[in-house]
Amino acid sequence: MTKFAPSSTTQKHLWPDEHGRYGEFGGKFVPETLMYALDELETAYKEAQADPTFTAELDALRKNYVGRETPLYFASRLTEHLGGAKVYFKREDLAHTGAHKINNALGQCLLAKRMGKKRIIAETGAGQHGVATATACALLGLDCVVYMGAEDIERQKLNVFRMRLLGSEVVSVKSGSKTLKDAINDALRDWVTTVGDSHYVLGTVHGPHPFPMICRDFQSVIGKEARRQILDAEGRLPNTLIACVGGGSNAIGLFYEFVGDEDVAMIGVEAGGRAITPGEHAARFDGGHYGMLHGAISYVLQDDAGQIGSTHSVSAGLDYASVGPEHAYFHKSGRVKYTHASDEAALAAFQTCSKLEGIIPALESSHAIAHAIEVVPTMAKDDIVIVNMSGRGDKDVTQAARLIMPDEEI
Ligand SMILES: *Cc1c(COP(=O)(O)O)cnc(C)c1O
Repeated sequence: MTKFAPSSTTQKHLWPDEHGRYGEFGGKFVPETLMYALDELETAYKEAQADPTFTAELDALRKNYVGRETPLYFASRLTEHLGGAKVYFKREDLAHTGAHKINNALGQCLLAKRMGKKRIIAETGAGQHGVATATACALLGLDCVVYMGAEDIERQKLNVFRMRLLGSEVVSVKSGSKTLKDAINDALRDWVTTVGDSHYVLGTVHGPHPFPMICRDFQSVIGKEARRQILDAEGRLPNTLIACVGGGSNAIGLFYEFVGDEDVAMIGVEAGGRAITPGEHAARFDGGHYGMLHGAISYVLQDDAGQIGSTHSVSAGLDYASVGPEHAYFHKSGRVKYTHASDEAALAAFQTCSKLEGIIPALESSHAIAHAIEVVPTMAKDDIVIVNMSGRGDKDVTQAARLIMPDEEI
């Protein structure tokens, strides 16, 4: 293990290329009208990144509004319980609005404001990205329209109320399966007709270029902090990083700064659901194939005719038929290993973490913890593991209570 290795920002790997590709994955496959908007966005983003006023404003908001940096916490009781490597949590659950999603929403809304766009469009599944975007819009005085499947609106009434309270309009999407995938379709449809004054804030490292790159860069603050923090705490880099993978933004946020550190292993944990059979999970690297969804080439759960497959996970945030194109690239190159945790294992980890650490994790993050519970006992005691605690579990307690105590009235 290299001691005090130089920051891996000097790494050679420089994806995406000028076509927005990560090897054979990624790209931008959108209607002609959006091509111009995507080019405009990429140019504005590059200018903003090079402008110290923009980065200073973002840094100040990260510190004073989001509450960064988030702690890197040594989970001593979980470590003792597992009897193997030392387990640290990167505490994105302590960021404002309770998850990492605000990192991207805030960055993109600030960028939209700089571009002179006064209206924000977002899609949301369970409502987490919708709430983060509605929050950033309230902060910056932007109009906000959130597309949400009618099915999800029914299941997530509290988050719908939160968004409205924050001043956003929530539009019910009644097409298709009335869930996230259909909400993304409608958000894109809105953007096609309103590109002049609207910006679409995509919630993860998916979609057409430059979204996966922009979201990754805004989320990579997680790994930049964690790298510095673990060097402070332990004087060396971790052996293994573990994060759950829905679209893949919290995982890439943690991993990216370590990509050039060849001795640091990285594991992405997908939703294993009830079983790895069609319709029962969202493990794209186990049941998915090369394909296209929402403007990008990646791994997609689909049938033989290319129709998008249905998915299931106990956690709404991991329940999506495709995965960010850069993850597809890392899977293929072998730099990141991908595995899955079942609903059952995630629910068990949710309880173990709550009891041993006094931290109720999001059901999404519980998938990463479940994998840590599996592998940490097989590692040496002086090994170090960082688990990304992508969000807090307050949003999940009613659902968890129903699953853990099915006979009680909640
Ligand atoms: C949305 C969400 C996820 C999944 O999204 P990624 O883009 O894969 O990070 C994970 N954890 C929490 C808490 C979420 O809200």
